[in-house]
Amino acid sequence: MGKKQLKVIYTEKGLANFFGDHIEINRRLKDKKKLRDYIMKHELGHKESFDIWHEFQIDWKVMPSLILFVFKNPSTWKDFLPIQFSKKKIIFDFNLLIIYSFVISLSILVALIFIKLLK
Ligand SMILES: [Zn+2]
Repeated sequence: MGKKQLKVIYTEKGLANFFGDHIEINRRLKDKKKLRDYIMKHELGHKESFDIWHEFQIDWKVMPSLILFVFKNPSTWKDFLPIQFSKKKIIFDFNLLIIYSFVISLSILVALIFIKLLK
């Protein structure tokens, strides 16, 4: 079975997304080889099966430049939404949905505890 060549499409918006048959990546990453390679490796590492821990496999050496890039390019912010649109496909990011639900539940819990304590 030959490995299918994965198509890379440069986009104006978003950081990077793996749509199964192709990868969309921000065109501003084109000349940022180190960052681009890291993001590509991450996206390709996503398996079909459930793998939330993949999101936490972080290379802290690359993180500062990644955060800076995201901060300087508001067009990438849409990738932090748990739903993504490609030209012909909609994908849900279940990892993000779970992470957000967890963070929101935790915030509500902490808020409730504080309200109780203040009474
Ligand atoms: Zn990911």
